[in-house]
Amino acid sequence: SQQDSVLCKQASDFLSRDVQHLFIDGECVPAASGRTLTTVDPSAGETLTRLAAGDQPDVDRAVHAAREAFKGQWSTWTPYERQALLTRVAQVLDERFEELIQIEAMDMGAPVSRLRGTKPALMKMVSFFASQAANISGETLMNGIPGNVTTMTLKAPVGVIGGIIPWNGPLNSQFWIIGAVLASGCTAVLKPSEDASLSVLRVAEILHEAGVPAGVINVVTGLGKEAGHALAAHPGVDRIAFTGSTETGRSIIQASTVNIKKLQLELGGKSADIVCADADLDKAVPGAAMGVFANSGQICFAGTRVLVQRSVVDEFTERLLAFVDTLRVGHSLDGSATLGPVISQSQLDKVLSYIDIGRAEGAQLLCGGGRLGGDLKKGYFVQPSVFGGVTNDMRIAREEIFGPVLSIVPFDDVDEAIAIANDNEYGLGGAVWSQSLSTAMRVVHGVHTGTMWVNCYGYIDPLVGFGGTKMSGYGSKGSAAHMDTYLYTKSVYMEL
Ligand code: NAD
Repeated sequence: SQQDSVLCKQASDFLSRDVQHLFIDGECVPAASGRTLTTVDPSAGETLTRLAAGDQPDVDRAVHAAREAFKGQWSTWTPYERQALLTRVAQVLDERFEELIQIEAMDMGAPVSRLRGTKPALMKMVSFFASQAANISGETLMNGIPGNVTTMTLKAPVGVIGGIIPWNGPLNSQFWIIGAVLASGCTAVLKPSEDASLSVLRVAEILHEAGVPAGVINVVTGLGKEAGHALAAHPGVDRIAFTGSTETGRSIIQASTVNIKKLQLELGGKSADIVCADADLDKAVPGAAMGVFANSGQICFAGTRVLVQRSVVDEFTERLLAFVDTLRVGHSLDGSATLGPVISQSQLDKVLSYIDIGRAEGAQLLCGGGRLGGDLKKGYFVQPSVFGGVTNDMRIAREEIFGPVLSIVPFDDVDEAIAIANDNEYGLGGAVWSQSLSTAMRVVHGVHTGTMWVNCYGYIDPLVGFGGTKMSGYGSKGSAAHMDTYLYTKSVYMEL
């Protein structure tokens, strides 16, 4: 089969385990209940393997292991030792990358070609955290207290981190948490999505073999409402790093009140990609298209509302449809595929239902709109789909679809484009395509969102940081601000 001929031995051995156990205190262990969940290859629509269905007792055990590790020998590691560990992690990821992307491709459906292209971003992220490990410092301050009082601030790791991870790219996204944990001296319990847990389990094993001490990174798989909720509500967890939907973010805020957990929430989006009449369409067309279709639309900052100035809307649309024709949808292990399936049957149903909603609302479906047939008919494949003549009050322009569906919303002038962009509850990403610096900067200043790209889409540099405003959450991934949320500040007054 295609699968056997492409998979390397390590990936194949890993995927052929009967059950993927939890990873707690450096060991693979079954769930206390013995229950399992199936996980599916979305390209084939068939069971891939089984996951342990973790719940409260497993979370208790993992949090205990993480707490013991936090208090133990790990707390004596110097910044240079933690930095060297992160450098070793980078080396191991480099060596094992092909195995990891094959597991990720089978588990969540992204084509291997796309995943191979994410390697530089992953390596950059780990290097960023390695640099941060040896850069943790407080301040010494002059203060207003009379006498011989010196004041300083110290930074200390907050403790046990609960990391709740979505399915749309766990191989990379887990390192926003793992990197900061290893750099700061915290420990973690990770709860990956029940739809894509495998790369998180595999990484935990590989990193332990590479020298991450037992108990520092633990993984409890299971359902969101069971293992996820138990982690968010656990009194032994100091901080939650959550990436996922706004609705789940809301229930995590509620659960976290038990012990006033610190939260970092990276939530949904409905980003506007604004194409002005003076845009270079040679760049804007593929840029705007891949701003939506990359990862089959399953990217939080996907620019799903493509706002196009009316004088160029016909030309833009024609060129966009020609570009969409060049996209190749296929099995995640098919090296020539540029787009894969969506993650699950329920996501497929959701995306197709939004296509029906768009039609019923009076938008014009210009291409796509259905599932793929032939060899791909059992997988969760949706044709890349484009709607024209969309207005911003339609549900397809307001709600996060998280699938390969692009809406073209015409506008007359830049002020109207800014107003449309802002007329949404989310504020995550966005872009402007214009050859005029003043137009571009007017849009950059006018749109309320965590990130703006000008004449490009989707760059993320850990040095700069990435986060949302409005209902897209709070807290930054990357930048010194990210590290700060894994540390607390202690003020010290010394009268000598
Ligand atoms: P989701 O909210 O359904 O699930 C995310 C994680 O939360 C999963 O591990 C899930 O098991 C867990 N979970 C579910 N219910 C829970 C509960 N009650 N308590 C604790 N944990 C619970 O999201 P998803 O469908 O996996 O991912 C898609 C969503 O994630 C989209 O909305 C997307 O925009 C968002 N996302 C945001 C970013 C960002 O950086 N802003 C990045 C990627 C994805």
